[in-house]
Amino acid sequence: MSELAEFRTALDGELFSPDSPGYDAIRRPVNVAYREVRPRLVVRCRSVSDVVGALAYATATGDRIAPRGGGHCFAGRSSTDGIVLDLSGLDGISVADDGTATIGAGARLEQVYAALHAHGRTLPAGCGAGVGITGLTLGGGIGLLGREHGLTCDRLVGARVVLTDGSVVDCDHDREPDLFWGLRGAGGGQFGVVTSLRFDTVAEPTTTRIEAHWTHTAPRGLVSAWQAWAPDAPDELTVNLTLVSEPGAAVRATLFGAATLDEGSTRELLGEFTDRAGAARTLELRPGLPYHQLKSTFADPRDVPERVLRLRSEFFSRSMGPGTLASLLAQLGEERATGRREIAFTAMGGAYNRAAEDATAFAHRSERFLLEHIAEATDPWVDRSWATAHADGSGRVYPNFPDPALDDWAAAYHAGNHPRLAAVKNAYDPHRLLDFPQAV
Ligand SMILES: Cc1cc2nc3c(=O)[nH]c(=O)nc-3n(C[C@H](O)[C@H](O)[C@H](O)COP(=O)(O)OP(=O)(O)OC[C@H]3O[C@@H](n4cnc5c(N)ncnc54)[C@H](O)[C@@H]3O)c2cc1C
Repeated sequence: MSELAEFRTALDGELFSPDSPGYDAIRRPVNVAYREVRPRLVVRCRSVSDVVGALAYATATGDRIAPRGGGHCFAGRSSTDGIVLDLSGLDGISVADDGTATIGAGARLEQVYAALHAHGRTLPAGCGAGVGITGLTLGGGIGLLGREHGLTCDRLVGARVVLTDGSVVDCDHDREPDLFWGLRGAGGGQFGVVTSLRFDTVAEPTTTRIEAHWTHTAPRGLVSAWQAWAPDAPDELTVNLTLVSEPGAAVRATLFGAATLDEGSTRELLGEFTDRAGAARTLELRPGLPYHQLKSTFADPRDVPERVLRLRSEFFSRSMGPGTLASLLAQLGEERATGRREIAFTAMGGAYNRAAEDATAFAHRSERFLLEHIAEATDPWVDRSWATAHADGSGRVYPNFPDPALDDWAAAYHAGNHPRLAAVKNAYDPHRLLDFPQAV
């Protein structure tokens, strides 16, 4: 029997090659930019031993290997011309009496929220329903409960990982502690293939949903007020700000977020902001929403399945100065014939910053906010806008928003944690079976 036939026979899952029915559907990641990458094989893994078998097969053939969870990577790292390891068949979720959840590596956020909700539990995690829990966690995990409970990876208490030599290890604070450290925030696909994650979940809160709109030709005062206030707001309140510019229209500003507070307390706190920023044209509060329902009420600007978008981002540990802000907003609103442009401010601070920079691999623990620049991939504005804001940025970049254009990516993603990450990589994947541009 050929090596491939032996591998196929031993699988609990399925193997897809370019001539298999269903190949095109399974090979395509969510991100349209990488939909034409044609892997030699896609393995839909249904057991840990499928992952072990796939790694052994790839080692024998010399194929590149790319693990895939939700397939949302902005840099296409879960696509390859070699072998895609699709983990969607490993998506079981169980919750123990003490609230510890064991989650299969292929589960997506909507499955996670629904399963945890059934037990009155949840996780501080992201908004995109189809985003994979593993990709999100391995790179950190920012969401509307993060200022209160930290990153998704801060709730991780253990993981099962298949290493590239085929061994299966359980890691946590006591077992394989360096690997466990590296899994919390360095980014996906670095040290081994995760097959399940264990989390210390939190009680699911009831939230008040917040959405406010302003229409401005010059929203400088609004952004100034937001950057001075939102990162220092009480942990129970997270409000993010987006500014959207479309040809022929004034810049639209939206404040959206959530509070784990009742309507009255939320309104009172927001009053501190509107006192500085000016009254909103509309302010809508929806109290009484369990967290898992809140998530589905927000549209995600990154979730536009048929458009090739480009996103660049940076963290800020201080407010942008007036000159930088004026230039940024002028570029955003400049006249043009086509193209939607968006800048999105995400509030950090709170529990995100109550861990030491070297406590986990996620090094960005002194940041006030994250700024994203999002537009069609062909719009040169993304680079100009990023460069303008970069004058006041901290030089740090979120590992889950990988940016191929960075000059010093190791410092940007990992800062002082990079030397320890390089040692973990050497110890756990010395032959670099898992590799991609900007891999540790
Ligand atoms: C629409 C959208 C909304 C988003 N919203 C948020 C948000 O609210 N908060 C936030 O923090 N981020 C958000 N992100 C960014 C998101 O966290 C990253 O894109 C994340 O890496 C996606 O994980 P994935 O499993 O879906 O992607 P994939 O492309 O499958 O994987 C991402 C990386 O992890 C690796 N990987 C996947 N599974 C495994 C595994 N089992 N073992 C080892 N490595 C693995 C892949 O090889 C790849 O390098 C969003 C992205 C999009 C496109």
